Amino acid sequence: MKDFPPDSSVVERVEPSPNFEERAGGRKPDMIVLHYTGMESETAALKRLCDREAKVSSHYLVMENGSIIQMVPESLRASHAGVSSWEGETDNNSRSIGIEIANPGHDFGYPEFGKRQIAAVIMLCKGILTRHTIRRENIVAHSDVAPARKQDPGEKFPWKLLHDSGVGLWVEPAPITDWLSLIPGDSGDTVRDLQKSLASYGYGIDVTGEYDEATKIVVTAFQRHFRPAQVDGMADTSTRDTLARLLEAKAKPPAPKETKNSPKPKA
Ligand SMILES: [Zn+2]
Repeated sequence: MKDFPPDSSVVERVEPSPNFEERAGGRKPDMIVLHYTGMESETAALKRLCDREAKVSSHYLVMENGSIIQMVPESLRASHAGVSSWEGETDNNSRSIGIEIANPGHDFGYPEFGKRQIAAVIMLCKGILTRHTIRRENIVAHSDVAPARKQDPGEKFPWKLLHDSGVGLWVEPAPITDWLSLIPGDSGDTVRDLQKSLASYGYGIDVTGEYDEATKIVVTAFQRHFRPAQVDGMADTSTRDTLARLLEAKAKPPAPKETKNSPKPKA
């Protein structure tokens, strides 16, 4: 691809990747998938995302210092999610915008994300939200859509900060109070309810009533995003309560932003 004008004013430069296609069925993006690069060097990551042989790409790469590189125009399909499932759909590349965040990841010590870098991610996402209609719950981790293969951007990713800045859906996790867990091997209606709840949030999970390996993997992904204090795949009370709160929040329209000039509600 030749050079193209960036979609966003916060983009520092364009580095076109050859790894793109048309969005299937002319799909408009209704989802953002966040990743970490998982490579020791961010320059190596950029090189890979633009390497025809690697066959991978994303729309954006946010470097450690917060500078943003665009590789694929938002109108086109980038190759970042791979085999994935969300809301019953499997071609999630055709419906999403992919953002890679430079971080070496779990294989290389998994350092904290820097403040400038996260501020850049937030600004970028807020811009995307002005250009596309994206529901809050459809701003997801790669691990949410590919829980058996991926753990990025991982449990250190500050989802609460994004949410507080108007990006994504998040609720305060229910405190960890006990060890009363549903665990692998359990079966019955409580397991069925757990699976139904996870599926109704968007996760790709079969409702079987059996706490099988696939269920453990999805619970792990849920915890990594929404209850990161303990990521173990055991559906303890805190995990199940957090999920219930999240589904309640999803059903409610987002609260209007308080501003100085907002009229005071009448008593
Ligand atoms: Zn990823």
